[in-house]
This record gives sequence, structure tokens and C-alpha cells, in this order.
Amino acid sequence: MSGDDGGERVLVALGGNAMTAPDGSATPAAQAAAVEGAMRPVAALVAAGARVVLTHGNGPQVGNLLIKNQLAAAVVPPVPLDWCGAQTQATVGMLIMNALERALAALDAARPVSAVVTRTLVDASDPGFADPAKPVGRYFPEAEARRFMAVGQVWRRFGARGWRRVVASPEPLEILDAGAARALLDAGHVVVAAGGGGAPVVRDGAGLRGVEAVVDKDLAAQLLARRLGATTLLIATDVEHAVAGYGTPEARPLRRTTVAELGALAAAGHFPGGSMGPKVEAVRRFVAAGGRRAAITRADEIEAAGRGEAGTVVEA
Ligand code: ADP
Ligand code: MG
Repeated sequence: MSGDDGGERVLVALGGNAMTAPDGSATPAAQAAAVEGAMRPVAALVAAGARVVLTHGNGPQVGNLLIKNQLAAAVVPPVPLDWCGAQTQATVGMLIMNALERALAALDAARPVSAVVTRTLVDASDPGFADPAKPVGRYFPEAEARRFMAVGQVWRRFGARGWRRVVASPEPLEILDAGAARALLDAGHVVVAAGGGGAPVVRDGAGLRGVEAVVDKDLAAQLLARRLGATTLLIATDVEHAVAGYGTPEARPLRRTTVAELGALAAAGHFPGGSMGPKVEAVRRFVAAGGRRAAITRADEIEAAGRGEAGTVVEA
């Protein structure tokens, strides 16, 4: 499954928190600086000879756009979530293009970096639409939440921290713009695609239509990796390993593991839905579908993880 040139094709998925604090409180300069830091290990991977496709989270960034929507609703009509997703693909994509091109030039490994606005196909009858569960945006007091519930949004109370909007997080069925990503990759670009899991669309009689949902970026990443014939999937986050018994005295960091072991641990509840769960599911699916190696790793260790020497490594 290697690329046409025989080189490694590596998909790197970066957590959204690499770019902003979880509450979105970061100035543009601070976000650009965070992206700059995140691109250093990516540049090293490219300079070492890998053909790289990057995907990124966008939770804090979309959270900020939702607040702007809410505060300006009386003046500028609010835009739907798929628009917000596309907007963050462009802004985060641009920051990555600038930072990664600079980092590559500094390593004498200059090449173009391009970001592709990417749509992800989902099923209009996905159970997520009937029972939205993915929290988006910040916490608000009940009175604010009620205002938005009155215009059709679903909000839920999260204990003492307040209320948050919840939306569907449907299964990604297809990365519709994977072909564009592949063409750029074949032409020697580093490609940014499927940011934030891709802008979710459904197919109806007339064609494609955006929907109010958020696709999990790690599940989208493993599908994109498969469609691009990637040899390796690296999920970069803020912990060194997936851990069995996380936060308990029996905590056990997983180093080398298998599809079967991860499946058993996931079934026993070791990986929560909103965070480590989808990462474990993504590496499992990638290797089960024929990918050579997948790892969950701290962002600064992606190169070693790509060699199987850091992080939680799953091999066929
Ligand atoms: P990202 O923004 O990179 O997608 P997430 O916050 O969604 O990151 O997921 C990473 C977080 O998952 C870690 O910071 C850690 O606190 C949490 N976590 C939950 N369960 C586990 C586990 N079993 N092993 C390791 N980390 C876990
Ligand atoms: Mg996450």
C-alpha cells in the first residue's frame, strides 16, 4: 500500500487543542505560535522522506465561531455548523501552510503545502441525528440555552458547569474530496485535508447538502488514510500513550498492541467516547482494513511513533 514512488505515505491527525486552549481563549498570535510549534515535528517527518497528509481538530475554533454567531444573531444571520467547519478548515489550513512551509525551508526540505476544503459524506438516517450527543461550543447559563432551544437547537445541562449545545456526530461514510488530496500528494505537496473531520454533507435527490453535525476527526482521518493508500496513521495528541485503567492505580500504558487487544479493552470501557475512544477506534479500523501501522502518540514524538518506537503502536 505504499505510494507510487515507493515512499511512506503517512497521515498525521493533530488534536485541536494543539492550537487553542479548550475554552478557545487564545489570541490569533498565540494560535499561530501554537501551530508553528506543532509543525516542527511534522516538518522533520517530511524532511525524513515521508509523503504527509495532515488533518486537524477544530473544536475550540468552531466554539469561537458559534459564540460570534450567538452574540451577533440580531445583526448578522447565524450560519450553520457545516459552514463553521469549512471556515475553520480554511483558517487553520492557512496557518498550517504558512508555518509548515517555513519549517520545511528551515530544514532545506522546501515543498508546497496545500489545504483542501473537504466534505465528508454521512447518512441522513444516522442515529446521531435523532439523539444528538456531541457537545460543541462553550458552557452557557440556562436562560441563554433556552433562547437557542426555542429556535430548534438541542442543549443539555452538564452539571454545575452549565449548558452546552449538543449535535449529531454521525459516522463518516466517505471522504468526498479525497481525490483532490491524492492528486496534490502525487504532485509532491504536503496536503491538509478533512480538517475538523470534514464538513458533513448528506446525499439527497438533488445532490449534496450540508447538515448540522460534527464528524469525529479521528474517525474521518482513518477513512482518509485508507482512501489515500497510506502506510501509516499517526494520531497526535497530548498524552504519550493510550492507557488501560486510565486514572486508576492499575493504569497500564499500552505500547505495542493489536487490533484484538484494543477491541477487548474498548469493549471493557477503558477509552471514553469524547476523547480516547475515537482514537483507539480509528487506529483499530485502519490496521484491520489493511494499514501497515497506526499509532497514538504525543505530538512531538510522531517521527519515532512512525518507526514504531514511541506511543501506542498497532501493527497488522
Ligand atoms: P485531542 O484534542 O488531541 O483530540 P482529546 O482531549 O480528545 O485530544 O483526547 C486526549 C485526552 O484523552 C488525553 O488528554 C487524556 O486526558 C484523555 N484520556 C481519556 N482516557 C484515556 C486513556 N484511557 N488513555 C489515555 N488518555 C485518555
Ligand atoms: Mg478530541
